[in-house]
Parts: sequence; structure tokens; C-alpha cells
Amino acid sequence: MTTSIGTRPQLAHLTAQIDDLKQRGTFFKLRVLEDEQAPVCTYDGRRVINLASNNYLGLCNHPKLREAAIAATVKYGVGSGAVRTIAGTMRIHMELEEKIAAFKNVEACVVFQSGFTANAGTVSSILGKEDFILSDELNHASIIDGARLSRAKIKVFRHKDVEHAEELLKEIENEPGRKLIITDGVFSMDGDIGPVDKLAVLAEKYGAIMMVDDAHASGVLGRNGRGSVDHFGVHGKVDVQVGTLSKAIASLGGYVCGSRDLIDYLYHRARPFLFSTSHPPSVAATCIAAFDLLESEPERIERLWANTWYFKEQLTSAGFDVGGVTTPKSETPITPIILGDGRKTMDFSKALFEAGVMATGIAFPTVPEGKARVRTIMTSEHTRAEIDQALETITVVAKRTGVLS
Ligand code: PMP
Repeated sequence: MTTSIGTRPQLAHLTAQIDDLKQRGTFFKLRVLEDEQAPVCTYDGRRVINLASNNYLGLCNHPKLREAAIAATVKYGVGSGAVRTIAGTMRIHMELEEKIAAFKNVEACVVFQSGFTANAGTVSSILGKEDFILSDELNHASIIDGARLSRAKIKVFRHKDVEHAEELLKEIENEPGRKLIITDGVFSMDGDIGPVDKLAVLAEKYGAIMMVDDAHASGVLGRNGRGSVDHFGVHGKVDVQVGTLSKAIASLGGYVCGSRDLIDYLYHRARPFLFSTSHPPSVAATCIAAFDLLESEPERIERLWANTWYFKEQLTSAGFDVGGVTTPKSETPITPIILGDGRKTMDFSKALFEAGVMATGIAFPTVPEGKARVRTIMTSEHTRAEIDQALETITVVAKRTGVLS
């Protein structure tokens, strides 16, 4: 019989930090989903309207994706057996990459284990310590970590401030190192859209590499959810397009799209690709089925946007701060309800949960100090009745707890 050990003195510094989070009121426990990811589902034994998942198009439990996963498991088994470069590249991995490349209208694509490793593995491998990264201050953590791993010099520009990005570029114009401009296509905590078109012009002007992280734009923005490059009509002007397979595509993984040379280079140099096992075949099959649905059922994306605008308008007219004053203005299905204070935000999220609405409280360090918010995410599959019920609950709880006067 094994005996679990408590925290030994070697890890006492962790306990101190946990105690600190508890004192600030921002310590959280993981909520556990007990059935399928859906607009209404059961977390921790409570039936709730789910405004917290990235399941934008409701594909997490779509019958066609389930069938694809089962068929691939029956045909190919449950695991790939190795990293891609050794023995773990299966035909179905290649089929998925070809499908994404065609969908995005680029030469080639490579799939990573997650969106996180796609960003971190790419940024860290295409630049070195002589180079420069110009990064939006609200870019995702995986970009920041990739930038640090690359050892390139990091220049952070103010959120969506293209002029500031240009000032920073001018400062390093005559430096010999390569320059990379990088932005999220959609910012994950505020739901606003990155100025991909304007930054692409800047990249062109200064001979910089242009990269975009479309984790929240894939399946959401552009024709059939082709992402921010398609949304802005800047095909051919963005060298590196990253996306995730874990949000609208409803499975797991991240991908990088670009030229054949970029992808061949990543095969040889991106460390998560080289040193971490590839996806089970069921994951690749699920993603292929999801991309087929983006093409064949565009009405899902239309419903997503109709729900999004309705929900935002109702929240705004009820008097909530949904961004645009002290924080960026959301333009996508991610709608934050800004409260500012961390403890107040976590308490509000908890009260919402108890009243039947699941919406995650997000505080420092995920968002800046003083900008805590309850983040909501709309999906195409929420019915109008569910949205109205959620709005009513949010308003009632906000009045009861003093969030709304
Ligand atoms: N980029 C952004 C902007 C994200 O929000 C996320 C997910 N939180 C990722 C990358 C990472 O994607 P994944 O969950 O597939 O690792």
C-alpha cells in the first residue's frame, strides 16, 4: 500500500503562496464537468447554463465528430506510438494537415499537440538571440513563453497600438537581427480583434516576419471561420498563422500554416514537434470532420454571431461594463463583464454558479491587477430561451450582490 505524503518543508514556499491566494480571495478549485460539454450541462453536480467553454460551434458532442473518432479508433487503434519524426506520423495526421492548408489557402501546415506548443514551439525556433520580437502587451502566454525561450529581444507594444509598434520598429530598424511582429487575432480575455491588416502593412514596410495567433478566431472570423487573415483579406501577407484545434474545432491540438519551407523548418527545429508524441488517430479524424462541418454548415457561424450580438446588447442595456471603457471593447463571442476587484469577481462568479450560470471569474495574473472580470463566451448552440435565462440570472445576482446598483 502506498501512503501519500503531505507537503514537506521543501515545498513550504508553495503553501505560503496558496495561503496568499486564499487571503486575496482569488484561490479557486477546479469545477468538474460531469456530462458532455454543452450549453446546459452539469458541473460539480449542479445543472448550469454554460457560458464558460470555448466550444464556439457546439461541436464537442456532434454526432459526426463522435463517429469519426470511433471509426478512426477502430481502424487505427488508440495511439500513434511515437513522436512524428520517429515513427508517429500516421496517414491521418497528413490528411488533417493537407485539409487545414487547403482551408487556409497556404502551402503547408503542421499540427502540434496544442495551440500552446504551436505558438511556443514556433516562436522559439524561428528566432534566435540576435533577433527582435514585437509583441502586443495582451498576447497569449504561449507567445510570451515562446519569445522568452527564443532568447530574442522582446519589445512589447501597447495593446493594438500600431503607431507604438512602428516607433519600436524604428528604434531597431538598423539592427541586423530579424524582426517578428506578433499579435493575437482575437484576444482571449477581452474578445477584441487584433489589427492584423495594419500590422501586416508595417511588417511589409520594415521587412519583418508577420505572425498571428488565431486560437479564438479560427471557426469564428472570416469566411467559414477561416480566421483573421481571411477576415481582413490579407492573404499572402501573414507569414505564420497559428490556430488551435481545441476551441471551435472541439478537439485538441494546434496548427501552424505558412510556406512549405516554414513547415519543413519546424519539422526539423520546433522542439514540441520533435520531442513530444503525436496525437491519437481519433483526434486527427475528429478535426477532419470538424473542418468538413465548417464548410458544410456555415449556418453554425451565423448563429454564433446572432447569439453574440444579442447577448452583448442585452448585457449592455442592463447596465453592465462589458469592456470599452477601462478595458478593450469586445467584438467577438468573448464578452467580459468587468468588475475590477479580484475578490468581488470571484464571489460574483460563485454566486452566478449557485444560481445556475457558469461564467468564470478571471483575476490577476491572468489579467492586469484591477481589471478582474467574469468572462462569458457565447456559442452557436445556446437557444434564445437559455440566453434569456442566463441574462435574467446574471442581472438578478448582480443586483443582489451589489455588482449592479
Ligand atoms: N492562444 C490563445 C489566444 C489562447 O486563448 C489559447 C488557449 N487558452 C491558446 C493559444 C492555446 O491553445 P490550446 O488550448 O490549444 O493549447
